[in-house]
Amino acid sequence: DTIGDNLDRTIARFGDREALVSVHQDLRYTYAQLGEAVDRCARAFIAAGIEPGERVGIWSPNCAEWALVQYATAKAGIILVNINPAYRTSELAYVLNQSGIRMLVAATAFKTSDYVRMVADVRHDCPRLERVVFIGHDWEEFVGGGERVSAEELNARQVATQFDDAINIQYTSGTTGFPKGATLSHHNILNNGYFVGEGCRYTEQDRVCIPVPYYHCFGMVMGNLACTSHGACMVIPAPAFDPVATLQAVQDERCTSLYGVPTMFIAELEHPEFGEFDLTSLRTGIMAGSPCPIETMKRCVDEMHMEEVTIAYGMTETSPVSTQTGADDPLEKRVGTVGRVHPHVEVKVVDPENGAIVPRNQPGELCTRAYSVMLGYWEEPEKTADAIDRARWMHTGDLAQMDDEGYVKIVGRIKDMVIRGGENVYPREIEEFLMGHPDIADVQVVGVPDPRYGEELMAYVQTRAGAALDRDAVAEFCKGKIAHYKVPRYVQVVDEFPMTVTGKIQKYKLRDAAIESLG
Ligand code: ATP
Ligand code: MG
Repeated sequence: DTIGDNLDRTIARFGDREALVSVHQDLRYTYAQLGEAVDRCARAFIAAGIEPGERVGIWSPNCAEWALVQYATAKAGIILVNINPAYRTSELAYVLNQSGIRMLVAATAFKTSDYVRMVADVRHDCPRLERVVFIGHDWEEFVGGGERVSAEELNARQVATQFDDAINIQYTSGTTGFPKGATLSHHNILNNGYFVGEGCRYTEQDRVCIPVPYYHCFGMVMGNLACTSHGACMVIPAPAFDPVATLQAVQDERCTSLYGVPTMFIAELEHPEFGEFDLTSLRTGIMAGSPCPIETMKRCVDEMHMEEVTIAYGMTETSPVSTQTGADDPLEKRVGTVGRVHPHVEVKVVDPENGAIVPRNQPGELCTRAYSVMLGYWEEPEKTADAIDRARWMHTGDLAQMDDEGYVKIVGRIKDMVIRGGENVYPREIEEFLMGHPDIADVQVVGVPDPRYGEELMAYVQTRAGAALDRDAVAEFCKGKIAHYKVPRYVQVVDEFPMTVTGKIQKYKLRDAAIESLG
């Protein structure tokens, strides 16, 4: 199936039901209305002369138009390139040129940044960019242009689109360095969205609050495609993440499901107004994207009514989800693991040195082979060959272990592993332990070079409500509970962590800061 065909089927079944609510724009669409708006928009792209397989970029915070463009490009056989709304001119120019974007849809609305000026600044460096349309400016005019294209013409495009055609270039989060553009097909992301929706047991009764960015697969696949393949409703609380707007949208729109990376759930739970919102409509949700603290997961269940909350693990390159916890899994597996492998996905845990499968309960590199593995990095055959081997296994760069029942635990990223005095130390384990300290709201542990031990550990701590915390207090807390070589040598209290727009903490930046602070 293609994304367009799948959407049409949902419209036929659930035309009267609500499909999309953009709270911050005060916009509502039923599935029938969404279908009409998507088709108008798809015809506008055809009218603009964009051919199948050509690239259209979208550079905007979350809004209804983002979703319209997503489905419209899919119907018209155009490859959509998601551009990070936090990008500035040099990054924008890189993406425009790297993926050869012919037309860009950008936002002037939502008071975020000055996209108009930035586009003007890069235009002369991007010769392949021919047209720019601004949401909040000439968008309506552009869509109106679609009237010149008949419904038959659009239909012909849709019929010619194949399930394994490239449909989307998504850049990775840039957690470990410069983002890479994963090229994905209808088959990749439509099916993954569908299975994520199955994992959350979505039906047309569900209303899913999506505060995670659309430019990332968490928003557009796990959010939108999971909803539209099940007739559920997509709810956009705000252009960018805001804890109060999110809680307000859950309450007012009676959402049944809420998404977030761990830092978002922490921000909601820790917010002084948290207790004022009625969250009883919630049933499920997804925490994903980075390691999910057990404490935070438990609070989602106990304080946010998310009895069936799941954890998903995956990466942009695998559409994204490979494993997910299920509502029926025992609580300890649901809060402490990333679940078992998704339907039609294979995973294995191997020794990164020689590729041999390691025994159960031993850490190694997680590899995934499935329908969901990307076509490749856009125009980067060498990087693609490094990531996907001849037997089609995607090497994730994540360290994981699998228990006897098949539950997977993510131990950390290979790049983040610390070797202290010859011992492998997984920062994740120490972070998880320190999260149990009553004064610690969030914590990140990184390795810093040390002449004696090779590396030493530095903990960056965010404390609860102004609490003070020093190295001795942390050491005292660790005493007798974790091995001495895992106790952080350095502790620093900070207000925030360097973060990607997807809400992931960029450890490489913390590590650089740590090294600098130690002189
Ligand atoms: P980049 O590849 O640009 O450095 P990134 O890997 O963060 O950035 P994404 O594709 O958005 O970009 O994220 C995938 C990564 O996120 C995974 O490889 C894994 O390290 C981490 N991750 C995702 N879900 C989970 C989870 N539930 N638990 C732990 N880690 C997770
Ligand atoms: Mg990655």
